Amino acid sequence: MTASAADTAPASPADGRLDAGLAAGLAARADRLEALLPQTQCTKCGFQGCRPYAEAMARGEADCNRCPPGGAEGIRRLAAELGVAPLPLDPGHGTEQPRAVARIDETLCIGCTLCIQACPVDAIVGAAKQMHTVLPDWCTGCDLCVAPCPVDCIAMIPVTGERTGWDAWSQQQADDARARYLSRKQRLVREREENDARLAAKAAAKLEALRQEAASSEAERQAQERKKAIIQAAIERARQKRQAAQPLNAAPADPVDRHEAAPAAASPDHPVPSDTKRPQ
Ligand code: SF4
Ligand code: SF4
Ligand code: SF4
Repeated sequence: MTASAADTAPASPADGRLDAGLAAGLAARADRLEALLPQTQCTKCGFQGCRPYAEAMARGEADCNRCPPGGAEGIRRLAAELGVAPLPLDPGHGTEQPRAVARIDETLCIGCTLCIQACPVDAIVGAAKQMHTVLPDWCTGCDLCVAPCPVDCIAMIPVTGERTGWDAWSQQQADDARARYLSRKQRLVREREENDARLAAKAAAKLEALRQEAASSEAERQAQERKKAIIQAAIERARQKRQAAQPLNAAPADPVDRHEAAPAAASPDHPVPSDTKRPQ
């Protein structure tokens, strides 16, 4: 089929303004919805955090009943913002429960740091091969640290009695959790960039050293050329990776299976092992 002139015509400035206006409207709606979420970043909604869930709701791609930490009150708030009738909490995403705080049995902890990597709000302190401990006031109860622990020494302890949802979690706690989550993301990006810069400098130095080396034979010259080509290709790959890097806080908005969700981003000091378990 031949494309019509309308199909092939370049987008007009008016089209561009319309698209930008729609995008701004969606972003503003996502902002309002995100502000209503508890910010535990637990991923129980099936998204990789509160923001991607808010964005999916803003686009009309997710219902308002997927957030167990917000519970029935959270659903009512989201439904009011969306202008829809509240739905019961979808049991496929969990149940509304009293809020819990993680506690580490320090006599069993082997200091593997896996829980630190999993914690979205930096509520765990410790260092490699040393005992770890949870800062209870910072813990959102997301339970993302539990499954990765290889010695099962993290327990979730309910701390709000019968209170659940927004009765067990204040707006101030949500705001603080969000600030810690964003600060952690920034730190991880910074650490990754610093590590990339270190590796790039190392590769450039190696390349320069090879260029200075005089080959004593044709075979040696060819070996040097091969090494140079490998290092140059690695430098180019790293450059392309940097270019393609996502902007900060642009978490994927696609739904993910919570059990398959990527663990907290690795840092140079804390690479995420391939066998990290997720909560069941
Ligand atoms: S389920 Fe967890 S990650 Fe999803 S919106 Fe609620 S608090 Fe945020
Ligand atoms: S300590 Fe565990 S339960 Fe608490 S916020 Fe961190 S990952 Fe979640
Ligand atoms: S995951 Fe478990 S064993 Fe490893 S540091 Fe954390 S609490 Fe300790």
